[in-house]
Amino acid sequence: MLVNYPLSAAQENNWVHECIYEAISLIVNNLNSATAIPDWPDILPPIHRDKLTSRKTIKGLLANFENIAVQLTEEQRNKALLLIDSQNNIAGLLAGEVTPLAVEDELNPIIDCLKLVFIEGFRLLKETGSRDAHYKAIYDSLAVKTCPFCGYEPFEAPDQKREDEDHYLLKDKYVTSAANFFNLVPMGGKCNKSYKLQQDLLFKNNIRRKALNPYGTINAEISLINTNPITLLDDKPNWNISISPDIEETRTWNEVFSIEQRLKETVLSPNYEAVLSETSDFLQCLDLDRQSTDAQVLLGLKKFERHKKRNPEQGLGYLKDKVVGMLRFHFESGNPLVVALIRDALPQIEAA
Ligand SMILES: [Zn+2]
Repeated sequence: MLVNYPLSAAQENNWVHECIYEAISLIVNNLNSATAIPDWPDILPPIHRDKLTSRKTIKGLLANFENIAVQLTEEQRNKALLLIDSQNNIAGLLAGEVTPLAVEDELNPIIDCLKLVFIEGFRLLKETGSRDAHYKAIYDSLAVKTCPFCGYEPFEAPDQKREDEDHYLLKDKYVTSAANFFNLVPMGGKCNKSYKLQQDLLFKNNIRRKALNPYGTINAEISLINTNPITLLDDKPNWNISISPDIEETRTWNEVFSIEQRLKETVLSPNYEAVLSETSDFLQCLDLDRQSTDAQVLLGLKKFERHKKRNPEQGLGYLKDKVVGMLRFHFESGNPLVVALIRDALPQIEAA
């Protein structure tokens, strides 16, 4: 993705998941030490107890968990807890530092129960207003209000129809992270429903892979410098998109969201004519014409590139500064076709 989400947006709103996790830990630990388990709502951590006291469904599901857990051995209960811990170490899973645990058959009944618990937790995120607060924190953090996974889908304002809340790690597979905001990311509908779909970010053809952490610190940069702006067969450049840093995490992002293909077909090619025409207009505003020297034109291109960088467009035009940078790069390198392309677009001033 192109921009990371603030860690605080997940941290500060994650109390539903934390309450459920602490209640489950308490049940397991008390069963293991043969200590009485407190009644509802004392099973919840005091700090958020009041907010969930009246929620009967989660109360019933946790009672159900207790009924199943009491029939398990201490070892089986600990395995279930370990599974919850590993599935919720989202940063570690994405970075390839934590191995996802396989569910052993003997744990199936308790995992089926946990799935219902955490799905109810996810539902409670909406009911308790946590999702609204989480989305607002993320929306407010974005300098440009677009989907950071593709860069161009617009994000609606917080009180409007919310963007999709994607379970970054699939909720059907990583069931106990279904209500954890570190695994929940606002995402444009196209990215979510047409590209990511049910792809598992951690595996491709059963081979483990790393993926970008939306709440982490690594994001992707796009460069078009390696693009050849003139192809003789077509009037569109043969786009060459470089993604940096070139690491497994950004490669997974590119693959899962079809980034290169979408940028070429949807963002770059349809906007190319507009960039050329804007470039020509800008240079003319600087009083440049065909009599101007290459050095003067280059300076104009540099000014336009800086202007575009400082005033980036939103939506489908968001890579225009990169396209201008690519033209400037080839003009500066003396690519004769690019020099001609830029110069031919300048007005011919007749000698007096
Ligand atoms: Zn998107």
